[in-house]
Amino acid sequence: MIHDLGLSEYDRILGIVDIDLYVPELTFVFGEADIAKKVAVISLTRLRQEFDDLPENLTLFRNRIITEAVHELGHTYGLRHCTNNNCVMFFSNTLSDTDQKGAVLCSNCKKILEKKKH
Ligand SMILES: [Zn+2]
Ligand SMILES: [Zn+2]
Repeated sequence: MIHDLGLSEYDRILGIVDIDLYVPELTFVFGEADIAKKVAVISLTRLRQEFDDLPENLTLFRNRIITEAVHELGHTYGLRHCTNNNCVMFFSNTLSDTDQKGAVLCSNCKKILEKKKH
């Protein structure tokens, strides 16, 4: 529980773990967000090239971490999944989705986020 950690004064919390995350009885996820509590978690495990028996690539690994972190934090700001596969809020089924979309919001999601801030 967040309150047990004495973290009542926070804006957002992002957990970063290096274990494979699953939605119970479903499939793996790169991350999850709790919109009401404004907390999210991402898993590093599947973001490494080595997970798929490919040679290490730290640049790709870092970019994927940033993309997944921004995506989950986007959910904590109330953003939903976007149909634009070049938008960070696009739902990633695979790492190639993550690599394709990158860490930037599309203009539509940016507008939604701007409205939510006010
Ligand atoms: Zn999502
Ligand atoms: Zn979008």
